[in-house]
Amino acid sequence: MPFKCCVTGCRGNYKGTEKVHTFSFPKNDALRERWLRNIPRKDFSATPYSRVCHKHFQPDDLIWETSAFDEKNGKIIKASLQRPKLKEGAFPSIFDGCPSYLSSQAGSSRKSPNEKKMEREANLMMKAIAHSKLSAAEYYKSRTFSDFNELLTCCMQYNFLHFGTLCTKTIS
Ligand SMILES: [Zn+2]
Repeated sequence: MPFKCCVTGCRGNYKGTEKVHTFSFPKNDALRERWLRNIPRKDFSATPYSRVCHKHFQPDDLIWETSAFDEKNGKIIKASLQRPKLKEGAFPSIFDGCPSYLSSQAGSSRKSPNEKKMEREANLMMKAIAHSKLSAAEYYKSRTFSDFNELLTCCMQYNFLHFGTLCTKTIS
Protein backbone atom coordinates (compact mmCIF):
# COMPACT_ATOMS: atom_id res chain seq x y z
CA MET A 1 0.00 0.00 0.00
CA PRO A 2 1.75 3.19 -1.12
CA PHE A 3 1.81 6.22 1.15
CA LYS A 4 -0.61 9.02 0.46
CA CYS A 5 0.44 12.62 0.12
CA CYS A 6 -0.27 14.79 3.17
CA VAL A 7 -0.95 17.94 1.15
CA THR A 8 -4.59 18.97 1.43
CA GLY A 9 -6.48 18.33 -1.78
CA CYS A 10 -3.75 16.23 -3.35
CA ARG A 11 -5.24 12.92 -4.46
CA GLY A 12 -2.01 11.24 -5.43
CA ASN A 13 -1.91 7.52 -4.57
CA TYR A 14 -5.58 7.43 -3.60
CA LYS A 15 -7.54 4.56 -5.04
CA GLY A 16 -8.15 5.02 -8.74
CA THR A 17 -6.02 8.16 -8.98
CA GLU A 18 -2.60 9.01 -10.26
CA LYS A 19 0.35 7.12 -8.82
CA VAL A 20 2.88 9.47 -7.32
CA HIS A 21 6.27 9.18 -5.70
CA THR A 22 6.32 10.23 -2.09
CA PHE A 23 9.02 11.52 0.23
CA SER A 24 9.17 11.45 3.98
CA PHE A 25 10.01 14.62 5.88
CA PRO A 26 13.68 15.51 6.18
CA LYS A 27 15.47 14.87 9.44
CA ASN A 28 17.29 18.17 9.32
CA ASP A 29 15.34 20.52 11.62
CA ALA A 30 15.64 23.69 9.55
CA LEU A 31 14.65 21.96 6.34
CA ARG A 32 11.84 20.12 8.06
CA GLU A 33 10.56 23.46 9.36
CA ARG A 34 10.65 24.82 5.84
CA TRP A 35 8.63 21.89 4.52
CA LEU A 36 6.05 22.37 7.24
CA ARG A 37 5.90 26.11 6.67
CA ASN A 38 5.41 25.69 2.93
CA ILE A 39 2.73 23.05 3.09
CA PRO A 40 -0.58 24.92 3.14
CA ARG A 41 -2.09 22.99 5.99
CA LYS A 42 -3.00 24.69 9.23
CA ASP A 43 -1.54 23.36 12.49
CA PHE A 44 0.01 20.45 10.72
CA SER A 45 2.77 18.46 12.27
CA ALA A 46 4.41 15.65 10.42
CA THR A 47 4.50 12.12 11.77
CA PRO A 48 7.05 9.52 10.72
CA TYR A 49 4.39 8.34 8.29
CA SER A 50 3.70 11.72 6.68
CA ARG A 51 4.68 11.92 3.05
CA VAL A 52 4.78 14.63 0.42
CA CYS A 53 4.47 13.60 -3.21
CA HIS A 54 6.79 14.60 -6.02
CA LYS A 55 4.19 16.88 -7.61
CA HIS A 56 4.94 19.59 -5.03
CA PHE A 57 8.59 19.91 -5.90
CA GLN A 58 10.19 21.96 -8.64
CA PRO A 59 11.17 19.67 -11.55
CA ASP A 60 14.76 20.75 -11.00
CA ASP A 61 14.68 19.41 -7.46
CA LEU A 62 13.92 15.86 -8.56
CA ILE A 63 16.66 13.52 -9.63
CA TRP A 64 15.36 10.86 -11.97
CA GLU A 65 18.59 9.25 -12.94
CA THR A 66 21.75 8.19 -11.28
CA SER A 67 25.17 8.33 -12.79
CA ALA A 68 28.36 6.53 -12.02
CA PHE A 69 31.82 6.77 -13.44
CA ASP A 70 32.98 3.58 -15.07
CA GLU A 71 36.72 3.33 -14.55
CA LYS A 72 37.12 0.53 -17.09
CA ASN A 73 36.09 2.53 -20.11
CA GLY A 74 36.30 6.03 -18.62
CA LYS A 75 32.69 6.84 -19.28
CA ILE A 76 29.86 8.06 -17.15
CA ILE A 77 27.06 5.56 -17.04
CA LYS A 78 23.59 6.87 -16.46
CA ALA A 79 20.65 4.85 -15.31
CA SER A 80 17.05 5.82 -14.68
CA LEU A 81 15.84 5.51 -11.14
CA GLN A 82 12.75 3.52 -10.26
CA ARG A 83 11.71 6.39 -8.05
CA PRO A 84 13.12 9.90 -8.04
CA LYS A 85 15.41 11.25 -5.37
CA LEU A 86 15.29 14.74 -3.98
CA LYS A 87 18.14 17.14 -4.40
CA GLU A 88 19.78 18.17 -1.18
CA GLY A 89 17.90 21.03 0.47
CA ALA A 90 14.82 20.66 -1.75
CA PHE A 91 11.48 21.65 -0.27
CA PRO A 92 7.91 21.48 -1.55
CA SER A 93 6.73 24.69 -3.20
CA ILE A 94 4.05 23.79 -5.75
CA PHE A 95 0.53 23.57 -4.45
CA ASP A 96 -2.04 23.66 -7.22
CA GLY A 97 -5.49 24.69 -6.24
CA CYS A 98 -4.36 26.47 -3.10
CA PRO A 99 -4.74 30.20 -2.61
CA SER A 100 -1.69 31.85 -4.07
CA TYR A 101 -0.68 33.47 -0.81
CA LEU A 102 -0.29 30.00 0.60
CA SER A 103 1.76 28.66 -2.25
CA SER A 104 3.80 31.76 -2.95
CA GLN A 105 6.66 30.63 -0.77
CA ALA A 106 9.73 30.82 -2.85
CA GLY A 107 10.74 27.76 -4.79
CA SER A 108 14.39 27.41 -5.61
CA SER A 109 13.96 29.11 -8.98
CA ARG A 110 11.55 31.78 -7.85
CA LYS A 111 12.27 35.21 -6.44
CA SER A 112 13.08 35.44 -2.78
CA PRO A 113 10.86 37.63 -0.55
CA ASN A 114 13.72 40.08 -0.32
CA GLU A 115 14.00 40.37 -4.10
CA LYS A 116 10.26 40.85 -4.32
CA LYS A 117 10.44 43.60 -1.71
CA MET A 118 13.22 45.36 -3.59
CA GLU A 119 11.28 45.10 -6.81
CA ARG A 120 8.22 46.56 -5.13
CA GLU A 121 10.22 49.44 -3.69
CA ALA A 122 11.87 50.12 -7.06
CA ASN A 123 8.43 50.27 -8.66
CA LEU A 124 7.19 52.71 -6.04
CA MET A 125 10.27 54.81 -6.54
CA MET A 126 9.72 54.92 -10.31
CA LYS A 127 6.14 55.95 -9.75
CA ALA A 128 7.19 58.66 -7.31
CA ILE A 129 9.77 59.98 -9.76
CA ALA A 130 7.27 59.99 -12.63
CA HIS A 131 4.79 61.76 -10.39
CA SER A 132 7.25 64.35 -9.18
CA LYS A 133 8.30 65.06 -12.79
CA LEU A 134 4.68 65.65 -13.63
CA SER A 135 4.01 67.90 -10.67
CA ALA A 136 7.25 69.78 -11.31
CA ALA A 137 6.06 70.42 -14.85
CA GLU A 138 2.72 71.59 -13.50
CA TYR A 139 4.45 73.71 -10.92
CA TYR A 140 6.62 75.52 -13.47
CA LYS A 141 3.69 75.87 -15.82
CA SER A 142 1.73 77.49 -13.03
CA ARG A 143 4.54 79.97 -12.52
CA THR A 144 4.75 81.17 -16.06
CA PHE A 145 2.35 83.83 -17.05
CA SER A 146 2.04 86.14 -20.00
CA ASP A 147 -0.27 88.76 -18.66
CA PHE A 148 -1.48 90.25 -15.43
CA ASN A 149 -4.59 88.06 -15.20
CA GLU A 150 -2.52 84.92 -15.52
CA LEU A 151 -0.23 86.24 -12.81
CA LEU A 152 -3.28 86.73 -10.62
CA THR A 153 -4.53 83.22 -11.32
CA CYS A 154 -1.13 81.87 -10.32
CA CYS A 155 -1.16 83.84 -7.13
CA MET A 156 -4.67 82.76 -6.19
CA GLN A 157 -3.94 79.14 -6.99
CA TYR A 158 -0.76 78.91 -5.05
CA ASN A 159 -1.73 80.55 -1.82
CA PHE A 160 -0.25 83.93 -2.48
CA LEU A 161 -3.69 85.01 -1.56
CA HIS A 162 -2.67 88.25 0.09
CA PHE A 163 -0.69 89.34 -2.90
CA GLY A 164 -3.52 88.26 -5.16
CA THR A 165 -6.14 90.07 -3.15
CA LEU A 166 -3.96 93.11 -2.92
CA CYS A 167 -3.52 93.19 -6.68
CA THR A 168 -7.24 92.64 -7.27
CA LYS A 169 -8.07 95.48 -4.89
CA THR A 170 -5.48 97.75 -6.44
CA ILE A 171 -6.80 97.35 -9.98
CA SER A 172 -10.47 97.44 -9.14
ZN1 LIG B 1 0.80 15.51 -3.32
